[in-house]
Amino acid sequence: MPKNTNTDTHDSPFIKQSFSGRPVRRVRFCARVILRNFSDKERDASYVRLRWTHEVDSSLSFRGTRNLFSSKSYLRLPLLLPQTTAMQQILNYINGSFQPPNSGKYLDNYNPATGEVYSLIPDSDATDVELAVKAAKAAFASWSALSREERSQHMLNVSRRITERLDELAEAESTDNGKPVWMAKRVDIPRASDNFKFFATAILHDSSELHDMDGKFLNYTLRQPIGVAGCISPWNLPLYLFTWKIAPALASGNTVVAKPSEITPMTAFLLSQICEEVGFPKGVLNIVHGLGGKVGSAITEHPDVPIISFTGGTETGKTIARMAAPMFKKLSLELGGKNPNIIFDDCDLDNALSTSLNSSFANQGQICLCGSRIYVQKGIYNEFKTRFVEMVKQMKVGNPKSPDVKLGAIVSKAHFDKVLSYVELAKQEGGTVLCGGKEAKTDLGGWFIEPTVIEGLDEQCRTNQEEIFGPVVTIQPFETEEEVLAYANGTKYGLASTVWTSDLARAHRVAAQLHTGIVWINCWLIRDLRTPFGGVKQSGVGREGGWEALRFFTEPKNVCIPLQ
Ligand code: NAD
Repeated sequence: MPKNTNTDTHDSPFIKQSFSGRPVRRVRFCARVILRNFSDKERDASYVRLRWTHEVDSSLSFRGTRNLFSSKSYLRLPLLLPQTTAMQQILNYINGSFQPPNSGKYLDNYNPATGEVYSLIPDSDATDVELAVKAAKAAFASWSALSREERSQHMLNVSRRITERLDELAEAESTDNGKPVWMAKRVDIPRASDNFKFFATAILHDSSELHDMDGKFLNYTLRQPIGVAGCISPWNLPLYLFTWKIAPALASGNTVVAKPSEITPMTAFLLSQICEEVGFPKGVLNIVHGLGGKVGSAITEHPDVPIISFTGGTETGKTIARMAAPMFKKLSLELGGKNPNIIFDDCDLDNALSTSLNSSFANQGQICLCGSRIYVQKGIYNEFKTRFVEMVKQMKVGNPKSPDVKLGAIVSKAHFDKVLSYVELAKQEGGTVLCGGKEAKTDLGGWFIEPTVIEGLDEQCRTNQEEIFGPVVTIQPFETEEEVLAYANGTKYGLASTVWTSDLARAHRVAAQLHTGIVWINCWLIRDLRTPFGGVKQSGVGREGGWEALRFFTEPKNVCIPLQ
């Protein structure tokens, strides 16, 4: 949205007759459109240059022409242009104001569907993080002293505004990440709003423990906010996961320094605009953009950030754990997965097939909860495989803006290359590609991969052991429950698993023996925000969701008092 337009006109010698018979002159215009929310200080850095030509009455003087196109009515013109023509510069949000990075440098932000740079991200460093931590520290006293009702109201304002800006946020998420717009509209953005709403209202119903010592002494547990929380999130569900951390941290009275993924920063930037729009208290939420190795590690290492909530890859999680451990920081790590999808021959096959299509390829297979190893019991293996592959072949890959597209673009060129390299690896390891396995051709120019199913691989091979995090699944037969449990539990990961069976006793038995933090039986991705969320083994440490999150972001303190 333009806040100001400065137009310059360049007279062209070309004069002709208009249809109405009056002589007209073609004039080239050049405008600098200053985007909203940019302060005077950043104005020079933030303008968008527009050029267009227009025919005007030839009797108009140069000044008259210029005034005509500087008039208020004409200010609407840039709005008619597609959003993507403007190279938007994202800014940090520190102490309630929009700030460029201290380095003055920016990183390219790509639209994965076109492979083109469409906006710029601050290349921030430790000095920006320092400012953000300072602001968050200063805001802590007043924010944590607010009543629950007041904190809740502030957060509900954010939630409401996210919903009001649903369409714009969904478009932005799709452009930034490559996911279908319909998905962002149905899943990502509503969930971001719900995250704020859920924790804003959860604190109104919070409670803590009391331990009575036979009427002689009483112990009660205070749960107090900790201070400045560092929240670091990944690119696959950008606003959804960003707010999943920020909301409980804020609700429980902490202030926050947050870093979204540098690969998908746009909706975090829009969230900072929303905070400004609703008058969210300054310094309570600070958002610093940039690279993980600079901004993420500066947050992790900062002595005034005693608590870190991180979601991302297992290797990054290890780095963060190494940095945080000597400082005894409180850590929550939500990491990678290699989730098994187990299909017994007594299952509702139609349901198992259609849900497995989603659990394999939703969000281009880039959900940490996607089932990437499908195990099918021998009795139905051939039927399942044949029908599944036929259904996969029907899935439309392409323009994320199109409502009938099932798979959009892969988030980045580097990730596109990584996913395809795993298909090559699978072939070298003896796998047979049943469908997909290569780039999906579109006329958009971006990074698309066909949904891929691979058969014939050994359990211990890298394809079946390492996280691919793309539209690639393996499929393999099994005979017994014991056998499939050994396969399912046979990786270093333990995030989620799915079981398909109509035998109730077996469902419970298998669920109890799976080494994962989450088990879905005859369903997938059903999420209740009250439930504990997280993984075991190298899929993470700690749990998010419900009371688990509110407890993580508070420090319990036992108070003991004599009663006699
Ligand atoms: P990533 O680990 O590369 O990056 C995640 C975030 O960490 C980014 O913001 C990044 O900038 C930052 N970061 C990178 N290096 C850092 C460092 N040294 N110090 C501090 N921060 C640093 O992960 P990604 O590629 O963005 O996301 C994909 C991964 O996330 C997959 O492994 C996926 O399974 C995992 N994931 C897990 C969950 C879960 O809940 N368990 C949810 C979503 C994604």
